Amino acid sequence: MNTEQILRWLQRFATKIEQNKEYLTELDAAIGDADHGINMERGFKKLLIQLPTITNKDIGSILKAVSMTLISSIGGASGPLYGTFFLRASSAVADRSELDEQDMLDMLRAGLNGVIERGKTQLGDKTMLDVLFPAVTAFEKAVDERKQMRDAMGQALVAAEQAMKDTALMQAKKGRASYLGERSIGHQDPGATSCYLMLKCLYESL
Ligand code: ADP
Ligand code: MG
Repeated sequence: MNTEQILRWLQRFATKIEQNKEYLTELDAAIGDADHGINMERGFKKLLIQLPTITNKDIGSILKAVSMTLISSIGGASGPLYGTFFLRASSAVADRSELDEQDMLDMLRAGLNGVIERGKTQLGDKTMLDVLFPAVTAFEKAVDERKQMRDAMGQALVAAEQAMKDTALMQAKKGRASYLGERSIGHQDPGATSCYLMLKCLYESL
């Protein structure tokens, strides 16, 4: 995956967030405070303006710039979490202009670990982690089996989609949705959904 494809990923994700602003907000209305789409769109709108100004940078610098923009503009629980994801991801691929399968795995895993530490969250808490973790695990398995980037990411995406749907079965243990206790069961998690969209765009940019 080269710099151009990374930029295409970010552009696609930002556009996808704009298109799904209402949907993400509706999901958050059911178990949160009806602002996930609004929060995300605020940050990604900034990112769309910023992207043309960072096209000549290396992948690490691009992801770091993205992180700063998201942290400073998203707000809510998801701002620091997505910001941390991109910040840690950027450190794993500093100065690079091309990523092979192992580099991509290192990047995703670094981002994932950032979300776990920042969110102090565990698998099954009904958060974005419940999509990110199985996706990275599936990607790792595919890379171990010597799959090429696009195939491996395809497998990660299949795992992510199922995992996103499975968050509906979970009771929230973190964030605002946890205030609902058992009433949070039966609703798909908004952050898990935006995280699936992020991975879908990553696959589509390859
Ligand atoms: P807020 O909850 O502050 O309104 P958002 O609505 O933008 O923020 O984001 C809510 C999403 O953030 C949830 O659906 C969940 O996926 C994610 N989230 C909340 N708390 C955590 C946490 N501690 N760790 C990981 N993800 C979390
Ligand atoms: Mg919210």
